[in-house]
This record gives sequence, C-alpha cells and structure tokens, in this order.
Amino acid sequence: MFAMSTADDSLPLAAELKKISGLKLKLSEPLARYTSMKVGGPADYFIELENEAALAEVLQVLDRYQENFWVLGNGSNVLISDRGVRGAIVRLTGEFKTIQFKQIGRMAKLTAGAAVPVGQLARLAARRGYSGLEFAEGIPGSVGGALYMNAGAYGSELEQIVDQVEIMTPRGIPISFVRAEMTFGYRNSHLAAGTVVTRVRMALGKEEPAEVSAKLRELARKRKASQPSGSPNSGSMFRNPPGDYAGRLIDAAGLKGKRVGACQISERHGNFIVNHGGAKAMDVWQLMEIARSEVQKKFGVELIPEVKLLGDWELK
Ligand SMILES: Cc1cc2nc3c(=O)[nH]c(=O)nc-3n(C[C@H](O)[C@H](O)[C@H](O)COP(=O)(O)OP(=O)(O)OC[C@H]3O[C@@H](n4cnc5c(N)ncnc54)[C@H](O)[C@@H]3O)c2cc1C
Repeated sequence: MFAMSTADDSLPLAAELKKISGLKLKLSEPLARYTSMKVGGPADYFIELENEAALAEVLQVLDRYQENFWVLGNGSNVLISDRGVRGAIVRLTGEFKTIQFKQIGRMAKLTAGAAVPVGQLARLAARRGYSGLEFAEGIPGSVGGALYMNAGAYGSELEQIVDQVEIMTPRGIPISFVRAEMTFGYRNSHLAAGTVVTRVRMALGKEEPAEVSAKLRELARKRKASQPSGSPNSGSMFRNPPGDYAGRLIDAAGLKGKRVGACQISERHGNFIVNHGGAKAMDVWQLMEIARSEVQKKFGVELIPEVKLLGDWELK
C-alpha cells in the first residue's frame, strides 16, 4: 500500500475551484478509465473544462496555489502512475469539441477544438473531400494531444497540415501561433510544459470525397493488419530510433509475447504492450524496462519512451 495524500472538499483550492463556472471538479478521481491502457491511480483534482474563460481562470488559480497540473487528452499516449497524480488533471470538453470548415477555392481551412477526436475529424473531412488528414484514421487521440505529440502515421504528420495553433499559457494567457512560428520534431511540438492547446487550424486540400475516403479506408486496413486490437494499449511505447523501428528491435530481441503481471508485449507488434485486464502501471513500466535493457544489450540501441509518464512516479 502507498501512503497517499488525497484532496478534500474543505481544502481552500477545492473551494476556490468550485466557484468557477464552466467546470466539473472531481476529487480523488481514479484515472484508469480516462486512458486507453486502462491503468493509473487517482488525481487529487480532476477538472473538466467547458470553455476558454473557465480554463483561464482555473490555470490562474492553480498558478496562485502553485499546484502542479497535467493536461489529459484522450489518454492514448500516457502511462499514469498507480499512485495517481498529486495535483490536478485538466481535461477539455464542451466548447473545445467544436469543428468549423471553410472552403477557399481548392483549399479548406478546418478549425477544430482540442477535445475533438482526431480520427473522427479525419473521417468527417474525408466525407467532404478534404484531404491531408487521412493518416489520422485509427489514431485514438484528441486534436490537442495529436498536436502536442505531432502525431503521425504512414509518412504523414500533423505538422504538415497545421496552419495555426491556439494555446493557453500555464498562467492562463491565450496566445495564437501561425505555422511559421512553430517548430515540430518527431512526436514533438516543442511546446513548453504546461501549455494547453485549445484549438488547431489545419489547411487541407480538396479532392473527390470518394477518393479521400478510399485512401482513408486503405490506411485503416493497413493499420488493422499490423496492430493489436481488442486489448487496451497505449499505441507505440517507444519512439523509433533513427533508421530503424522499435517494434522490429523488440521482436528481434525475442521479446514478443513477454509478460509481466497482466500485461504483455503484443504478439502482433513488438512496440505495443497490451493490458489483458487488471494490469498495473508498474507492470507496464517493468516490461518497458525489460525491452529497453534487452535491446540495448543485444543491439546497442537505446530505446526512448514515446508514451508520456504522468503523475507520481518514483523510478530508480
Ligand atoms: C491503438 C493506438 C494507435 C495509435 N496510433 C498512433 C499513430 O499511428 N501515430 C501516432 O502519432 N500516435 C498514435 N497513437 C498514440 C496517441 O493516440 C497519439 O499520440 C495521440 O495524439 C495522443 O492524443 P491524446 O489526446 O490521447 O493525448 P494524451 O495521451 O492524453 O496525452 C499525450 C500528451 O499530450 C499532452 N496533451 C494532451 N492534450 C493536450 C492539450 N490539449 N494541450 C497540451 N497538451 C496536451 C498530454 O499532457 C501528454 O503529454 C496510438 C495510440 C493507440 C492507443
């Protein structure tokens, strides 16, 4: 058992947060259900925000109390500690789920709130014949998470279609960046820690809807053929090292199928760890450590986690 400090209704921070309209506050909220891996302990403060005004106010209050916070999107690329999060989890909903399309000649500007599921957005765009986002079909993240991670697949990445990004600073100040003011890297948007992405505008092409939809279906078919389905997972656990694939190295190290507790390195794809039910975050971490040290020993390659560790981790 871990000794755990938990938030309490009578705390001044909880009382202050409750005065803000446009938010839902839960104390000591278990986080596993908000992640695709289905692991993770409770957050002291779990705050769901409906609009920008509420977000700004919350960030200002958290800043004043010097309380740590993490932004959680769809939880599809995070590993949250079994001990949970000391501080706050901030999650966007409501107004952050809106989508607007604007066609300008043979181009379309698509503006989506950070809480819109990026795969759903890709399907919606395809149905209207707007092209460029097809790669996102099957990525279970939100627009905000996809931007933060510079999500990509099959040779495309979000950075290629980003036109403008609206964010809120950790102190609750809204700022917008045009594409030329941003730098992206592999699974990285170089945004400062604590930045909250609120809205993203994308520049898409215009083609026949049937063509865009066919491309999207083809990518979905490829994904289905290569990735595990059915058991909870967090997608790729490690970044691909330059010129190679983490999954190939883990497979070549003989680790496909390796288990710790209720989780297992997928038999189908070496870079996926699946939760067969009831796994702990620490089991997942231990499997990652095994993969990392075996690949280092056998091939001299250092695997770097792609999943973001959130919360109260005490790792040696
Ligand atoms: C089955 C499966 C397949 C996947 N396939 C792919 C793939 O093909 N390509 C790929 O790139 N990824 C893939 N992923 C990983 C994941 O879906 C992406 O990284 C996704 O973009 C993460 O979005 P999210 O909303 O789930 O973010 P989360 O997992 O919630 O968070 C990830 C990081 O982004 C930050 N974040 C989230 N929202 C915001 C926000 N609004 N503002 C600021 N920071 C934020 C979090 O703090 C955290 O650091 C896959 C995952 C799964 C489970």
